[in-house]
Amino acid sequence: MPSKALPSFSKALFSGILLDELLFPYPKMDKEEAENLKLVQETFKKFADDKIDSQKIDEEAHIPDEVMNGLKELGFMGLSVPEKYGGFGLSNTGYVKMLEFIGGTDPSVAIMLGGHQSIGYKALILYGTDEQKKKYLPKLASGEMVASYCLTEPGAGSDAAGIQSKAVRDEKRGVYILNGNKQWITNAGIADFLTVFAKEPITDKDGKVKEKISAFIVTRDMKGVSVGKEENKLGLKGSSTASLFFEDVEVPFENVIGEPGKGFKVAMNVLNAGRLGLSGGSLGALKHVMRPALAHIKERRQFGKTLSEFEMIKEKVAQMTIDLFATESMIYLTSGLMDRGDVDYSLEAAMCKVRATEVAWNGINECLQMVGGLGFMKEYPYQRLMRDGRVNMIFEGTNEILRMFITLAGIRDEGEYLKKIGEALKGPIKGFGVLTDYATQWLKDRVMTEHIRDVHPSLANAKVQFETWAKNTHFSAERFIMHHGKNVIYREMRQERLANAAIDLFGMISTISRVDSLIAEKGEEKCKHEIMIANVFADQAWRRVRRNLLMMDSNADRQMGELSDFMVKQGFYPFATESMEILL
Ligand SMILES: Cc1cc2nc3c(=O)[nH]c(=O)nc-3n(C[C@H](O)[C@H](O)[C@H](O)COP(=O)(O)OP(=O)(O)OC[C@H]3O[C@@H](n4cnc5c(N)ncnc54)[C@H](O)[C@@H]3O)c2cc1C
Repeated sequence: MPSKALPSFSKALFSGILLDELLFPYPKMDKEEAENLKLVQETFKKFADDKIDSQKIDEEAHIPDEVMNGLKELGFMGLSVPEKYGGFGLSNTGYVKMLEFIGGTDPSVAIMLGGHQSIGYKALILYGTDEQKKKYLPKLASGEMVASYCLTEPGAGSDAAGIQSKAVRDEKRGVYILNGNKQWITNAGIADFLTVFAKEPITDKDGKVKEKISAFIVTRDMKGVSVGKEENKLGLKGSSTASLFFEDVEVPFENVIGEPGKGFKVAMNVLNAGRLGLSGGSLGALKHVMRPALAHIKERRQFGKTLSEFEMIKEKVAQMTIDLFATESMIYLTSGLMDRGDVDYSLEAAMCKVRATEVAWNGINECLQMVGGLGFMKEYPYQRLMRDGRVNMIFEGTNEILRMFITLAGIRDEGEYLKKIGEALKGPIKGFGVLTDYATQWLKDRVMTEHIRDVHPSLANAKVQFETWAKNTHFSAERFIMHHGKNVIYREMRQERLANAAIDLFGMISTISRVDSLIAEKGEEKCKHEIMIANVFADQAWRRVRRNLLMMDSNADRQMGELSDFMVKQGFYPFATESMEILL
């Protein structure tokens, strides 16, 4: 690998290297954990069947106390807390599977649980000291304390580094004085444990004072903490979302999570880790709504046939099945990478979040379409799940920001490499003779790999498509950097295309890996549909990759930018048809 950092499959792919050893064989859950998980799921299902009424939660915009207490008593607030602190100690894979399961029952409950553990107390698990963990994790696992992750502010959403909350050290009293406010915080109305990000002045080695982000444990009982009114939302109505205000709150020094000034990294790594829970929950909701939709199209007759007999309906069912399978393959491959602990999974987690939230959104929309007018009626779950799922493309990093992240973080190594080569070639004699030692080493490290390991012959075609388009994506990324240099950061439409290509490639390789392992386990005969899905997905995916790469060089980006600027300046749609000027 060119960089000393942990290996990343997708970053290497942008550099033309296929680290297939990270993805094959497809990870398998530990047998004992799989059995335990089944028991936990059965317990949850029984509880949900008895107590969780999603329509009521949606209408009353509240998760009843009986449900909250039941979730706490059964231990669902501590799914990812290590056993020694009183939690279930699920692996990342186990946790994501559980959130998928819960997301398939009620998204408001899933978001309450995810806000609490995917992000609310995740910083404590990842970066907390033993003392901090001992003090808080047992209470968080039991649900005695509910957690929130507090980053967003009125002036800082996507641009999280722009937060204005301030923490100033009072050395005499050993406390920080925290001031600021946070907006749209999940669980704010019920949380006692707040992971708060705020800026503190830090003196660097040169004696200069800079404002840097730190992460703090703030508890609801601290003087000066208050909560705003509950937001009235489109969906996820049962989950609490509100503002939080901090006025001269005294936060003890020992409540800093991680190193002072390193809080931005904490914030981003929590989100990296949390994104898979949201991805699983999104797919769970789609799987849930497919059941009644499939039953409906099997029964409902029009033009003398059942809806399921019509080709356009078949296409919808097949497409959502393919998309679900491919996305699920990405998610559990990535959770397997997280569980290994020696791999950088940040790009893959972002890819899963983007793909899963969009696949779920499109799939739920198609389910609603397949059941026709009935899908628009409140007594059926379709409209609710659409409303509940809409925000998944907005929070935990909007899908636009994540696409930028996928490309810009993905091409960073390649950019460094090209820069070094460029610098080396500036010497008096042109050619490799003037390469610096550093650049020579980079070249040696970067032997381009064009092939992945052999897979079952039924997947051979998909493998070749993956290899071909992985190579083309690498060349396209290289051209992008060489053409645009530092300006790559402003070429967002191209970044989006490269990200979409990378997501499709990761979907292809995840599906191939999963089906290859399934065939090895069960035999080809028993994997007929899985093989079909892997091949159709690969065929659809490479065509999308090709289109995205073609549009890297040939596109209407300039005109699109100009037209948008014109429209924003106008402030309204100015192209009236006859007699419609009154609308302008
Ligand atoms: C129900 C709900 C729950 C939430 N829970 C939490 C929580 O628990 N904790 C927390 O900290 N936050 C939470 N949030 C906040 C959430 O994370 C933010 O809404 C999100 O990060 C986006 O910020 P914003 O809404 O300010 O949008 P903006 O940043 O203003 O973005 C608006 C639009 O512009 C796009 N955009 C922005 N910058 C760029 C760019 N450079 N290029 C292209 N497009 C761009 C965005 O993608 C988006 O489409 C929650 C939000 C909601 C709605």
